[in-house]
Amino acid sequence: MVSRELVQKAKAFHGHVCPFLVLGLRATEIGFSKLGLRRPGEAETIREDVIAIVEANNCFADGVQVASGCTLGNNSLIYLDTGKNAVTFYRRDTGKGVRIYVHSDKVRELFPSRGSELWRKVVVERKGSKEEAEELAKIWEEIGYKMADLSEEFFKIEDVALKQVIERAPIFESVRCVSCGELVRADRVFYLDGKPYCAKCAGLEVPAVIGRGIVNSFHVPF
Ligand SMILES: [Zn+2]
Ligand SMILES: [Zn+2]
Repeated sequence: MVSRELVQKAKAFHGHVCPFLVLGLRATEIGFSKLGLRRPGEAETIREDVIAIVEANNCFADGVQVASGCTLGNNSLIYLDTGKNAVTFYRRDTGKGVRIYVHSDKVRELFPSRGSELWRKVVVERKGSKEEAEELAKIWEEIGYKMADLSEEFFKIEDVALKQVIERAPIFESVRCVSCGELVRADRVFYLDGKPYCAKCAGLEVPAVIGRGIVNSFHVPF
């Protein structure tokens, strides 16, 4: 069961408590126990050898990051843009992995109708008043805490063997853009007439993770 303390830690990171945030915590707890990993915080070294592969960039992904210690910044988090509420944990040392998919449809049956109604109004239609947004946050927090001990039947849990070795983050040299003077990772530099430019100064489109997921052509300067 996910502790209240961990939910509070996740709230500090994510901004609010919501069902999918806590589902990310719970999925991590299940995944770590299946892989024989200790709870994060006990041995930081573990984290370097565990990879989390999330399949959606939503509240769930933040729960996974807080509970697992696998984050975007420490290169232990991989974002796979499949659009599913699922996470795979992979241990480099044993080569074992486990994928946990959330049965969102079954989970939503547990939500009170007022919560779903407000969610549609405030989040989907972006029409709710401040009071309604606050009421939603309260209901969401209550449901969120209920997700802390959700039974495994609400998840599809499967062992996975990775068919490829996931590379560790390589270290690159930096090159200075001749136009803005900022340093740029060597493999992200664009050469025009033999001179190095950053994407912004070259006026190019680059891949970006935005609300809808990964887009291949985000125009810079933005
Ligand atoms: Zn959230
Ligand atoms: Zn530049």
